[in-house]
Amino acid sequence: MMYNSMESIEKKELGETMKSISLYKIISVVAFVVLIFILIIPQKFNINKKQKAEECIRNMKTIYEAIELYMQEREEDFNGTAQDLVRTNYLKKTFECPESGVGDKYKMSGDYESGEIVVECPHYEEFHDHKLPDSIIE
Ligand SMILES: [Zn+2]
Repeated sequence: MMYNSMESIEKKELGETMKSISLYKIISVVAFVVLIFILIIPQKFNINKKQKAEECIRNMKTIYEAIELYMQEREEDFNGTAQDLVRTNYLKKTFECPESGVGDKYKMSGDYESGEIVVECPHYEEFHDHKLPDSIIE
């Protein structure tokens, strides 16, 4: 009788130890997965941000070159929108900053006399890397 109860206590303890080991394992795995996510997500987010900035700059370069050509051919200032450039066949399509929702337009203008062309992202205040490099502006 005594022996039996001892055995059952040992079994019970062993069972609880096993339970706590498997619980420990589960917690470790979950913690590991959470840690991986914490490490990876911001990096992925940054890569997305960088890609969007690069796309935005590509858009602005295209617009810049369209305005440049517009002024060369027409010998006049450009004061319009991307839609005006599309209508006059200097752009194939209009562009929007990939960070924005629909409808945010690039600010653009060109001064024929000085040759100065301005193309600005509407989100420049928020994303300072959405800026044409000085090398293209000269
Ligand atoms: Zn932008």
